[in-house]
Amino acid sequence: MFPLKERLLRRMISKKCFFEIIYQIISNIPYWLFYGKFVNIDTLEGGESMKVVIIGNSAAGINALEEFRKHDKESEVTLISKEGGVAYSRVLLPYYLRGKVDYDTFFIRDNDFYKEMNTRYIEAAVTNIDEEKRLVEIDSGKRFSFDKLLIATGSSAMKPPIEGLAGEGVYNMWTLEDVKNIKPLFKKGNRVLVLGSGFVSLQAAWAAICKELDVTIYELAPRIMPRVLDDMGAKLLHEKITQHGGKLHLNTLTQRIERKEDGTMVIHAKDKESIEVDLIIVGTGVRPNIGFLENTSVGIDRGILVDEKMETNVSGIYSAGDVAQGPTAFGEKHVIHALWPTAIEMGKIAGANMAGKELEYEGSLNMNVTQLFEITVASMGRFMDEEGNEIWEHYDEKEGSYLKVVLEDGIPVGGTIAGGSDLVAFLGVLRPFIRKKQGIEDSPEKLMETLHKKIASTPTKNILEII
Ligand SMILES: Cc1cc2nc3c(=O)[nH]c(=O)nc-3n(C[C@H](O)[C@H](O)[C@H](O)COP(=O)(O)OP(=O)(O)OC[C@H]3O[C@@H](n4cnc5c(N)ncnc54)[C@H](O)[C@@H]3O)c2cc1C
Repeated sequence: MFPLKERLLRRMISKKCFFEIIYQIISNIPYWLFYGKFVNIDTLEGGESMKVVIIGNSAAGINALEEFRKHDKESEVTLISKEGGVAYSRVLLPYYLRGKVDYDTFFIRDNDFYKEMNTRYIEAAVTNIDEEKRLVEIDSGKRFSFDKLLIATGSSAMKPPIEGLAGEGVYNMWTLEDVKNIKPLFKKGNRVLVLGSGFVSLQAAWAAICKELDVTIYELAPRIMPRVLDDMGAKLLHEKITQHGGKLHLNTLTQRIERKEDGTMVIHAKDKESIEVDLIIVGTGVRPNIGFLENTSVGIDRGILVDEKMETNVSGIYSAGDVAQGPTAFGEKHVIHALWPTAIEMGKIAGANMAGKELEYEGSLNMNVTQLFEITVASMGRFMDEEGNEIWEHYDEKEGSYLKVVLEDGIPVGGTIAGGSDLVAFLGVLRPFIRKKQGIEDSPEKLMETLHKKIASTPTKNILEII
């Protein structure tokens, strides 16, 4: 038996607990009535500070958070991400498969980052948004209230509806999880089919060749990398792929995958002899992650429509990165560029504006630079030959170097390079002319000469920094 004093104390505590529980139930009744089910609504009560929710833990989300915190140290910030763990760079995934970077190099921030940003980090998928009640719901049913919201959910890689494609041994190369699945199959002598010949697919194919896999690429279109390279750049890269042993088939329709008991797969494509492989990497397109916005009034076309401030049509709801369709350097209002630097730029603008600044985005200038099959290929702006445009080209067959400038009414609007990595300096020189819409007064010959001088005087290690 406890002494009297202790018994009284215990009774008081249990009474307090009882009243506490009753209080909790009563205080939740309004939410019950309002939202239909009993959920824990976090951050709904208490405190005068603004409540900010950021969905996405990658280039756009992280840069928005950092920029926001530069201007606002007080507000309550919650960052939600479906892919757990510390933020990492997708750009490095193929380099990891090639063995060029270690696992640790992936991560673009460290473990303490979220604490330093005074941010609550929730690993969960957002399933719903109620823009009127200003609530975000995650897969557990829990809801978070917000005053300002950033949607930076990027995009996901798709798999086409080919019979037998779903299942083991078939992966995209889009997430850290994907490369963890691919890595054990990246063994010398294994046979891989790469579906698609876009930027990511060819990165996967090159990584496989570097690891001495037997590589076949099936592409439905008549040429490779249509969104990244002009015809000449594509032709030069195509030659390099073949020289390195890649079996590249254009105009090829994959029809059916037959699965064998030992785990290997037989690929049936139209008008082709069937081939057997151990692994398939699919790079046939991506889709913005916007499913949770289905029943909202947030303006959507292919992605989320944003203005120069990265704000959507719903006041206080912003979007940035691959999921957002925003302004470009050429004055177009709504384009998805799906590039890492664009995601960073958009994220910074969104973060500043969410903190009450008035910043406007000058527009994304698309630029793709990649080194694969021992050639550097890159493009910037409007690089395709279009009717009415003036083209200045320089091709040195012996050196295997190709440079091109596209001009509209005397103003450069884009360029392409293919050859040594030193040529990237060319795009560095061209970039301000495109941004400032400034004409090039030199003759084509003079311009090429200036560019060559610039390239020659730029130390190789600084070349990528120029851009
Ligand atoms: C293999 C590869 C190579 C690349 N190479 C280059 C390159 O060389 N140069 C270049 O410019 N670009 C490159 N890119 C593209 C670049 O990675 C993207 O443009 C960039 O990652 C976009 O950043 P983001 O923040 O908009 O979205 P993402 O990086 O896609 O991140 C989206 C975030 O949102 C989260 N999320 C998604 N849905 C939900 C949800 N429902 N609920 C909660 N969280 C959610 C995810 O967990 C993730 O944290 C490459 C991409 C890949 C896959």
